[in-house]
Amino acid sequence: MYGPRRDERDLEILQGADVSSTGETRTDGGRKKVVIVGGGFGGVRAAKALAHADVDVTLVDRTNHHLFQPLLYQVATGILSPGLIAPALRRVVKSQRNTRTLLAEVYDIDLAGKVVKSLGPNEQHIDLPYDYLVVAGGAGHAYFGHDEWAQFAPGMKSIEDARMLRSQILGSYELAEIATDEKERAAYLTFVVVGAGPTGVEITGQLSELAQYVLPKEYRSIDTREARIILLDAAPSVLPPFAPKLQKYTQRRLEKMGVEIRLNTAATDMDAETITVKGPKGVDTITAKTKIWAAGVQASPLAKVLAAATGTETDRAGRLAVDPDCSVPGADGVYAIGDMVSTVDRLPGVAQVAMQQGTYVGKLITNRLKGDETTPAPFKYFDKGSMATIGAREAVADAMGVKVTGWLAYLMWCYVHVMFLIGWGNRFGTLYNWVRSLRYARNRGHRLIDMTGAKAVAEHHEAA
Ligand SMILES: Cc1cc2nc3c(=O)[nH]c(=O)nc-3n(C[C@H](O)[C@H](O)[C@H](O)COP(=O)(O)OP(=O)(O)OC[C@H]3O[C@@H](n4cnc5c(N)ncnc54)[C@H](O)[C@@H]3O)c2cc1C
Repeated sequence: MYGPRRDERDLEILQGADVSSTGETRTDGGRKKVVIVGGGFGGVRAAKALAHADVDVTLVDRTNHHLFQPLLYQVATGILSPGLIAPALRRVVKSQRNTRTLLAEVYDIDLAGKVVKSLGPNEQHIDLPYDYLVVAGGAGHAYFGHDEWAQFAPGMKSIEDARMLRSQILGSYELAEIATDEKERAAYLTFVVVGAGPTGVEITGQLSELAQYVLPKEYRSIDTREARIILLDAAPSVLPPFAPKLQKYTQRRLEKMGVEIRLNTAATDMDAETITVKGPKGVDTITAKTKIWAAGVQASPLAKVLAAATGTETDRAGRLAVDPDCSVPGADGVYAIGDMVSTVDRLPGVAQVAMQQGTYVGKLITNRLKGDETTPAPFKYFDKGSMATIGAREAVADAMGVKVTGWLAYLMWCYVHVMFLIGWGNRFGTLYNWVRSLRYARNRGHRLIDMTGAKAVAEHHEAA
């Protein structure tokens, strides 16, 4: 139905790379080629929208999975296992016969030759010729000019990040249990989260749940309820993008859960043992072994690659300014979507935007392949609302203007998040873990760390 058998086509695409670099066309097999860089929210939606197009699609990612980032904090706090939120990309596009996936890191894009340059896991150079290119490389962390803070205050962007954070958090409790010095014990039991946006609020809520409800009866030398959990933000409120009513509710609930909230307060320095902050009461140095970064984001370096090649602007967060149809100005057949781009209407860096842009671009390319060269209607974002959890039974939601708090908002959050996971197995697995972890036993089924993980925490602090 789609031309040669899959294994022959795979070979053809790799050979196509060599062919293209010798100057021949990229449509040698008669079918055009679409390359999608990034198998995140935007990339997967673009691939899905091309499922029935008469085209060869290559979905290239430096990981082999599609990561559901909004639930990373639940991996970091032992609620979910990584596999539940990160299905293999091959599985995701398994039944899409015109699509192949490739594990490789894209390092350059030759716009003139229409070739994506990538490096396989064995350092093999793989050139991917394209007729249409969708770049959806996402974003990483921004430490506001202090990249050295990354080693002291890790953030969460990948499964590895979440696993490391889990070792850091649970390792700190293990080290507190055997600490002989009171001050050292207190330092292990102090957790500071920088950034009170949805991610910061959600992980703070779970740190509090761990300390207050999950761990207390399990330790003999320490009272985990004495753990100090601090949430700070330079903004004057928690959850800056949310309505004031929801911000106030969230702050009240977190404070009731024992969280110390410091607003109008920015991190000014940190090392392995401490974090220095400046707020309304002046400068304060807090001794805390665990700092978690949930503040700024920086667009994928691929935005810079495209900006340099086309002379297109990037904003302060490194996001590429794309045209209203998500095309990259001055780059024929190239579209960029998701967290790595900025649009004239300054859309937020959220999954819904990336997904809707992915679908839009996939459809646009399908039309182009059918010979439709008319100017498309600009991309229009449909805002379905936003939500964040506070604790195990608490959330806030703003769904199309309706503001909901508490248990009902929490149920809405559960429904939306579980439905957006890919695969029924993952959905049921996640639901099971939520019922088990959050509702009844308040247990955490995925708290695995070992000596290596805990040692890394200890060594890291000793080195400082
Ligand atoms: C901890 C956290 C919590 C979040 N919570 C929410 C939430 O509750 N609600 C919400 O709407 N949004 C949330 N977001 C934001 C949301 O996840 C992003 O907006 C969304 O993932 C953006 O989609 P994307 O396709 O642009 O990028 P991503 O989903 O990040 O995908 C980018 C993909 O590109 C790949 N890639 C990057 N560079 C290369 C390269 N050079 N070569 C090959 N592959 C590459 C990456 O491996 C990745 O798979 C959260 C984000 C984080 C980090």
